[in-house]
Amino acid sequence: MTWCDRCGGALREGSHEACVAARRLEPPRYCPACRRRMKVQVLPAGWTATCVEHGSTSSEAAGAAPPDPSRS
Ligand SMILES: [Zn+2]
Ligand SMILES: [Zn+2]
Repeated sequence: MTWCDRCGGALREGSHEACVAARRLEPPRYCPACRRRMKVQVLPAGWTATCVEHGSTSSEAAGAAPPDPSRS
């Protein structure tokens, strides 16, 4: 992770404590790998953020994914 996924600034420059705190409640806005603006979808159960280059992340993926009961 090189870029702050909330403000888009360089993580090694300055403090992003406010960003980290906000990110517990908000989806990311910038891809941490390439700093592109991500396409964010907010869902009732969480959020999905997609980078055209690096794919999507979701609030579920951030935690432990539960096993899929339809597969064995
Ligand atoms: Zn930041
Ligand atoms: Zn990216």
